[in-house]
Amino acid sequence: METPHPVKLTVLGAGPGGYAAAIRAAQLGAEVTLVERERVGGTCLNWGCVPTKVFKAAADTMEQVRRAGRMGLAVTAAAAIDLQALATRQAEVVRIQADGIHRLLRQHHVRYLKGEGTIPHWGAMRVQLPDGGTETLAWERLILATGSRPANLPALPFDGRRIWSSNHVLALTRLPRSLVIIGAGVIGCEFARILNAFGVQVTLVEMLSRLLPLPAVDADVSKVLQREMRKRDIAIHLNHRVSGCRVTADDVEVLLEPLSGEGDPSGRGTKICRAEGVLVCVGRIANTAGLGLEGLGIATDAHGGVPADARLQTGAEGIFAVGDVLGPARPMLAHVATHEGLRAAENALGASRAMAYNAVPLVVYSCPELAGVGLSEAQARARGLPTSVTRVLFRNVAKAHILGAIEGEAKIVAHAEGGRILGLHLVGPEAAELIAEGVAGLQAGLTVDELADHLHAHPTLSEIWQEAALKAAGRPLHG
Ligand code: FAD
Repeated sequence: METPHPVKLTVLGAGPGGYAAAIRAAQLGAEVTLVERERVGGTCLNWGCVPTKVFKAAADTMEQVRRAGRMGLAVTAAAAIDLQALATRQAEVVRIQADGIHRLLRQHHVRYLKGEGTIPHWGAMRVQLPDGGTETLAWERLILATGSRPANLPALPFDGRRIWSSNHVLALTRLPRSLVIIGAGVIGCEFARILNAFGVQVTLVEMLSRLLPLPAVDADVSKVLQREMRKRDIAIHLNHRVSGCRVTADDVEVLLEPLSGEGDPSGRGTKICRAEGVLVCVGRIANTAGLGLEGLGIATDAHGGVPADARLQTGAEGIFAVGDVLGPARPMLAHVATHEGLRAAENALGASRAMAYNAVPLVVYSCPELAGVGLSEAQARARGLPTSVTRVLFRNVAKAHILGAIEGEAKIVAHAEGGRILGLHLVGPEAAELIAEGVAGLQAGLTVDELADHLHAHPTLSEIWQEAALKAAGRPLHG
């Protein structure tokens, strides 16, 4: 009897979507090749999640040192940022993770091929190798995981000198005295927090009427963040559009035009913002150009993303797509990319499982941190759901006082009939960690009553959920 040969599966791109897909496919018995033109870990490990959080950890530590007096400590020297030491630390953290990924790939017998891949036709991939040679691979299943890159603004093309993308800022060898950040989305708000803590004078510009103007980010928690950022002397211009820019020898002048809308009391007349540099954070573009998708019958959408069905299969049989290459139609987040990678590998090898997006946690590593999962209040009301909303301040929780971090609140959006939890949102200390309980609760379909009956250790920040759930269930204790 003929033994069935292992399915030849190629993954293009070794970010969190691609390497997870490669490992899962290997676990399922496929013969896997993973093609990557730069470094394993993709944007997430090299230019995104990990390096920015190393910077954020330094920013948090600086703030703790500044607040030491309030915690009963006498710290005599002022904290100062050492960019070179920070870069060394960042490189070390990235190296440890990259080594770990390479070890996993070897353990799973995934062939890692360094080079730039293009797809000349169904079943083949041409890889341009770093030494100038080429190799052609044969595949029976293909997973596209080529990620994304920073989007440009026509009025502000990146030059790396004064006009920066997030990649440029992570590689700076000298901090600017002042910086204008265009775009108050997740990445813009995170850099505003980091650079403000490092002593840079930060101005944040947003076209829409609030910070983090994403449907999934609840308006109330976004407002709290705006208040806290202003307290930290971050200048915020909402409802403003960049209409021009002039680069001089010493600085950049950014022209801001007011747009109609609410929320910015200082929004009349064109403004000029002068700074040493401009960081453009207006979104990301899927990496699809030049791959050869047209020849496979795969059209990209208006944002350059690859459309795919619920199983993550593209319009071409046997070709799947995961992660940022899917474009902004789906959450462009590392944990989403990984989950899609696992799901796509399983589906490519015979399963038929839809990717679910109803319990995707979104975290903003601002100060304080902001996080949410499920529906915002506005989303729940827009769906016509009878909605009840409960808010509890962190100052009602003992641990927040112990840490000296009482700013912020938690909010539960629940079904008004029966109390099923629809969404959980918070802004405050350790929000990035605290949202994990929200994900579990939402995914399990808990009601506010059930969440209120879960014991929470005392004193912990997680008690904020218990307080909010008790209040939502009509039996408030401290909240
Ligand atoms: P990527 O990570 O972009 O990887 C794609 C890989 O494909 C790259 O390595 C690229 O070199 C390779 N590639 C592309 N084309 C080819 C080709 N033709 N041949 C060979 N290789 C190719 N998300 C979070 O969840 N949490 C965070 O805290 C967070 N912080 C972020 C901070 C910043 C500043 C940025 C920019 C992003 C952040 N993100 C965060 C988003 C996260 O980085 C992305 O969602 C995630 O990296 C997407 O993973 P991916 O595998 O789809 O693509």
